[in-house]
Amino acid sequence: MVIRGPHFLISDISVQFTNYYSHFHRSLLESSLAQTHRIMAHLEEAFIPLTPHPRIVNETAPCCNNCLDEVFNILFVLNHKGEYLVYCHKCAMAMKKSFTVLRQVNII
Ligand SMILES: [Zn+2]
Repeated sequence: MVIRGPHFLISDISVQFTNYYSHFHRSLLESSLAQTHRIMAHLEEAFIPLTPHPRIVNETAPCCNNCLDEVFNILFVLNHKGEYLVYCHKCAMAMKKSFTVLRQVNII
C-alpha cells in the first residue's frame, strides 16, 4: 500500500495541468491552422485575391470590429471614411460587402 502525502498530490496536479495546457495549446493551434486553410480554400474557389501583409514580431493581433474575436493570418479589411476596420471571416461573410483580404506574412 502506497501512502501519498500532500506533496505528491500537489506535484501530480501540476503535471496534469502541464499536460492539459500542452494538449490544449496543441489542439488550439491545429484547429487555428485548419481554419486558416479552410478560409484560404474558400477564397481561392471564389477567386478572391489575397494581398500579402507584413506581420511584425510581437505585433498584437487585431480584433474583429464586430464580434471582438482575435483575427490573425487572414484579415478582412474595410475602408470606412479613411479608417481601416478589420473583421473576422465569419462577420465578413455575414456582412456581404466588398472586403480587401490581407494574408499576414512574417518578416524576418
Ligand atoms: Zn467577427
